[in-house]
Amino acid sequence: TLILGIETSCDETSAAVVQNGTKILSNVISSQIDVHRKFGGVVPEVASRRHVERITLIIQKALEDAETCLEEVDAIAVTKGPGLVGALLIGVSAAKALAFATGKPLVPVHHIAGHIYANHLVKPLTFPLVALVVSGGHTELIYMTRHNQFERLGKTRDDAAGEAFDKVARLMKLPYPGGPQIDRLAIQGEPRYQLPRAWLETDSLDFSFSGLKSAVMNLVNKARQRGEEINYTDLACSFQMAVLDVLVEKSIRAVKKTKVKHLLLAGGVSANSSLRIRLTERARQEGIELGIPPLELCTDNAAMIAAAGTYQFLDGKHADLSLNADANFSLVE
Ligand code: ATP
Ligand code: MG
Ligand code: FE
Repeated sequence: TLILGIETSCDETSAAVVQNGTKILSNVISSQIDVHRKFGGVVPEVASRRHVERITLIIQKALEDAETCLEEVDAIAVTKGPGLVGALLIGVSAAKALAFATGKPLVPVHHIAGHIYANHLVKPLTFPLVALVVSGGHTELIYMTRHNQFERLGKTRDDAAGEAFDKVARLMKLPYPGGPQIDRLAIQGEPRYQLPRAWLETDSLDFSFSGLKSAVMNLVNKARQRGEEINYTDLACSFQMAVLDVLVEKSIRAVKKTKVKHLLLAGGVSANSSLRIRLTERARQEGIELGIPPLELCTDNAAMIAAAGTYQFLDGKHADLSLNADANFSLVE
């Protein structure tokens, strides 16, 4: 099967061609980071406009890079949600137009399913498995027993991990997106600031990062009032350690609870170098087989959407031309 994937849920315009759900023939990504940086975050209106300007070209390039054409693909997979509705609509409209013009099936894909399937492009998924999804809008532990079937073991009750990284980075006056900046600083720092870890109820696989974010905010504000110096490198390290302690521990607990052997890391925050190292180390100790996507497949891209879309397509989960974007699309029925 040859699937054309389209992704426009946030600030990356991307199109890709994937063969048999595993082989990337092309993956064209146009990031808008430079456009949004001056605003300190993604501006939805600006994102939509940029997607409109780029989408046709990006799709053409993806087909060219793959040395194929629309007639050759079996289906068109597109991110239906979640994400920014105006941004999603550009991808969905483009996919619908192509499906209408070619008569090819249209396959709606959940963005987070895509992030999980980024791992499938490295090594085919082995079920049952647990996936730690950590991105700009999500922090969840997902349990899968087969393709296309997602059960949620836990999720964040407030901020997503990536969101916490971005907000704390903004507080430290670092440029957007803050995750990579904190990652870079943290490596050089010492975790000498004491910050809270939200373990929640015993047995809970949920997360919470808003208390941590507030604690960092209070620490910075108090220091500023008192005219004290803050070592931002050490603060970045302390903050990151507080986040990673919980992410790593709860992932291992989820694996033990479900008695699976396979753990996957997914979503933009999986690009975090310390998270990759710590989870790799811990999984090795515990005898768990860990999958981590390469950096270029951690953040938003259409190859992961085409990969997830392949199994939707094979399961006959097609949409008709009434398909609509859904900003709050749920992964778990
Ligand atoms: P979602 O996938 O939940 O809809 P999104 O698509 O906006 O949200 P992604 O593109 O998957 O999110 O990931 C972006 C997030 O990943 C941002 O919050 C960014 O700060 C974070 N991130 C990227 N690289 C790193 C890193 N090295 N360390 C920590 N966080 C990172
Ligand atoms: Mg992005
Ligand atoms: Fe994402």
